Amino acid sequence: MPAQIIDGNALAKQIRSEVAGRTAALKAKGVQPHLAIVLVGEDPASQVYVKHKVADSEQTGLQATLQRLPADTTEADLLARIRALNDNPGVHGILVQLPLPKHMDSHRVIETISPAKDVDGFHVASAGALMVGQPGFWPCTPYGCLKMLDSIGYDLKGKYAVVIGRSNIVGKPMAMMLLGRDATVTIAHSRTADLKALTRQADVVVAAVGKRNVLTADMVKPGAVVIDVGMNRNDEGKLCGDVDFDGVKDVAGWITPVPGGVGPMTRAMLLVNTITAAERAAH
Ligand code: NAP
Repeated sequence: MPAQIIDGNALAKQIRSEVAGRTAALKAKGVQPHLAIVLVGEDPASQVYVKHKVADSEQTGLQATLQRLPADTTEADLLARIRALNDNPGVHGILVQLPLPKHMDSHRVIETISPAKDVDGFHVASAGALMVGQPGFWPCTPYGCLKMLDSIGYDLKGKYAVVIGRSNIVGKPMAMMLLGRDATVTIAHSRTADLKALTRQADVVVAAVGKRNVLTADMVKPGAVVIDVGMNRNDEGKLCGDVDFDGVKDVAGWITPVPGGVGPMTRAMLLVNTITAAERAAH
């Protein structure tokens, strides 16, 4: 039997409606939840992402303001703007769109955002909070993946999960979240000796690499849950993931498509983090 599809668009829609309800409740108390987005430069992909983030926010009743800065903005100027947003009680979430121009130190920029407003979950304090199980903000992409597992009622306790990719924004936090749910977790990466030997045993595989066909049908245990984070282009220029969807869907129990899988969930979880930041500030 082919795998069941975990529909990221449908789940994201449901989450946006929950966020809209939470936003309305906060507005009724006189608080307007507000996300501040800072975009430096003219990167075309970043412009599209930022446009979506503003539209998603407005659709759920969140206020979103976008500061567009020229590519030659100094790092000192950017840091000053972030500090001003930190000090503004009317701003609940701050997002600096990455990548930044080369003359800026992204790490220093992210560390300047107040952890209480770090809705991307990239601050080292957010990473630390996830690591030790304290409240903080979880990075939107792995958080969205976890929600997808929850949406199918999947109990991770005692299950074996393999996360392919060890980036700070996807792979590592994903592994921490799965560990927090009592899965046994392996993180694989480009130097992993025998990826197939690991994934063939896995109940859950999360592929977050950025290369097509990293996971093929012969690498998947029958019935496994396969979450595809990757965003690549195939030979026809169409968006595709890291997973050979057509092959793997005949082996896996559940699978996420690309497009329409993790992507919409990433966008939805930014809204969740923003309303959560506003609720925390209001208490
Ligand atoms: P990244 O920082 O480039 O990390 C990629 C990881 O994959 C690295 O840890 C790398 O290992 C590992 N890797 C590379 N080749 C491998 C191989 N052949 N076998 C096993 N592991 C391999 O990328 P990222 O930011 O985590 O993003 C990963 C993918 O997810 C990209 O396609 C990105 O566009 C996509 N993405 C999608 C969303 C979404 O919303 N859908 C959000 C974020 C990212 P090393 O550490 O050893 O180099």
